[in-house]
Amino acid sequence: MLQFIRNRASVELLSRSFRKYNVPESSGQLLQDLGFVHMSMSGVFHLLPLGLRVQEKICRLIQQSMKSVGAAQVSLAHLSSKEVWDRSHRWETSGRELFRLSDRTERELCLAPTHEEDITQCIANLVESQKQLPIRVYQIGRKYRDEARPRGGLLRGKEFVMKDLYTFDIDADQAKETYRQVLSAYHQFFKAVGLPFSMVNADTGNIGGKLSHEFHYRSQAGEDTICVCPSCEFSTNSELLKEIQPETAHPCPKCGDELALSSSIEVGHAFLLGQVYSSKLGANVEVNQRLQPLYMGCYGIGVSRMIAAIANVTKDSKGLVWPTNVAPWKVLVVPTSFKNMQAAESVYDTVANVVGTDNILLEDRSNHSFGYKMKDAELIGYPFVVIVGSQFQEQKLCEVHVRATGGRHLLPVESLHQILL
Ligand code: ATP
Ligand code: MG
Ligand code: MG
Ligand code: MG
Repeated sequence: MLQFIRNRASVELLSRSFRKYNVPESSGQLLQDLGFVHMSMSGVFHLLPLGLRVQEKICRLIQQSMKSVGAAQVSLAHLSSKEVWDRSHRWETSGRELFRLSDRTERELCLAPTHEEDITQCIANLVESQKQLPIRVYQIGRKYRDEARPRGGLLRGKEFVMKDLYTFDIDADQAKETYRQVLSAYHQFFKAVGLPFSMVNADTGNIGGKLSHEFHYRSQAGEDTICVCPSCEFSTNSELLKEIQPETAHPCPKCGDELALSSSIEVGHAFLLGQVYSSKLGANVEVNQRLQPLYMGCYGIGVSRMIAAIANVTKDSKGLVWPTNVAPWKVLVVPTSFKNMQAAESVYDTVANVVGTDNILLEDRSNHSFGYKMKDAELIGYPFVVIVGSQFQEQKLCEVHVRATGGRHLLPVESLHQILL
């Protein structure tokens, strides 16, 4: 059975020779050179087919994790009114990071950089009784921040994609329990992505609230510094400690052992907000005949930032190395020459039954050599490349290249699942 998207040619937007290509230091540059993204202007990016597929894979894992905490998906408007931001006082305090505009009636608006105000107003209008609680809603959508220094491609954009979850509970204890459940779901999500991560105590900043944690990937490209104690549970963003100096020793405030400092990329952020927004925006329910503001939490994941962060952390001197769960495609089937194309199609069909059609791609371009295609596959970072050549014709054997380890395996087609699953 031929499948809809199975050929490499249909995702090819670039036709550039990578024969003499040197993998750059910057993963942002690499993602652009390989056709994952295209910069439209400083801090603003178009996602091309390969980049969009990685984003969709990340979103699917996020959706599973949101399902595990019973959250429902919504999509809030990107245009937000000054009135709602005035009620939280963030119209004044957001400064130049807020993209402000006005409509033809001179009504002042902004492009939402986050949605605490709008979701709280929406819930204030909809909630009538505590029987409707708890409420857990999330979205995956674009955010707008006029960053002073956009950098690292998708790492810091002026327009970017975030997952944001908002939770509403009846009291402080239940809000804390929600917070605990969401942090645990975040752990599952980051484990599923497949890279080592750290959860640290964090500053509540301009968002406000009582308790906050961030999720980080260690990387020299990161703009944050995390401090982790090797001996006890203590870990924090350096923003919470006074005057951290990278070269000096810093004792753990809990056990006194020396903290390990690392540059890192913030990829997720959780806040226990309490009643900061609900009291200002009137999201109340009646408890013992008195109106009481709801207890809130908000929880972000930097979806588009994660594409660049994962690329940055995993890339090597030969190109990108996608973890299997977020690769644009997990398996690429490559015939050694056009005369093996029919055999490659049959291998494609067999392997598609194992990994699913959404995870496999057939390299069917006729205008490139086998060597070019293998170099291209290595640069793009498909986790597994299955080669169909003379050994398949003679003995039904395929060679599998594993990108992360550099491993090579010769296997009969019916045993491929041992490596691919
Ligand atoms: P940063 O400290 O890097 O500026 P932030 O603390 O301002 O991030 P949050 O308000 O906590 O960001 O937003 C939630 C998540 O959105 C962040 O953890 C991060 O992963 C992502 N994010 C924030 N700003 C950007 C941006 N300009 N471009 C891409 N992703 C971003
Ligand atoms: Mg910021
Ligand atoms: Mg931050
Ligand atoms: Mg943050």
